[in-house]
Amino acid sequence: MTGALLIVDYSNDFIADAGAMSCGAAGQALDGNILRQAEQALARQYFVFICNDEHHQGDPFDPEAALFPPHNLAGSWGAEIYGQTGAFVRRMQEQGSDRIVYVPKLRYSAFFGTPLDYLLRSRGVDELIVAGVCTDICVLHTVIAAVYEGYRVKVPADCCATIFEHGQEWALRHLRDCLNVEII
Ligand code: ZN
Repeated sequence: MTGALLIVDYSNDFIADAGAMSCGAAGQALDGNILRQAEQALARQYFVFICNDEHHQGDPFDPEAALFPPHNLAGSWGAEIYGQTGAFVRRMQEQGSDRIVYVPKLRYSAFFGTPLDYLLRSRGVDELIVAGVCTDICVLHTVIAAVYEGYRVKVPADCCATIFEHGQEWALRHLRDCLNVEII
């Protein structure tokens, strides 16, 4: 069996200063840490899954439209992976790595309505390391879904951030104390 790093919503819209829903400095501070996790994952022959929101301009059937400003619109700058992490992922792809897998997500959980579970299982993945934002929204929902599917999950605390005050601490504690997720 093997493992995968899931990088959740580490996009310009969620991280860059000009992003539509930016975590700001807290999100930008993760870049080097997530990059290190990605490098380590590939060095261990793990996979790196890029699980970003993919919304569509003016979609009246998207439930997030009632809650948040437009973000991660398909094909936009805002939907691209941020920073050094993004540059690394794109470089690996250009070099033909079959260890980088894109799974655009529909809702907070990267598992909901996507082939993520199938793609992980078909590669023999049983351990997940989940990084990205927001800790108390998409990271939380994705990790809960992963636990329900039977994956062993680790969350590096220095690779997650959120836009909500108190959300970081609450979400990590919930994952640790209620779901037995290893916070590393
Ligand atoms: Zn979204």
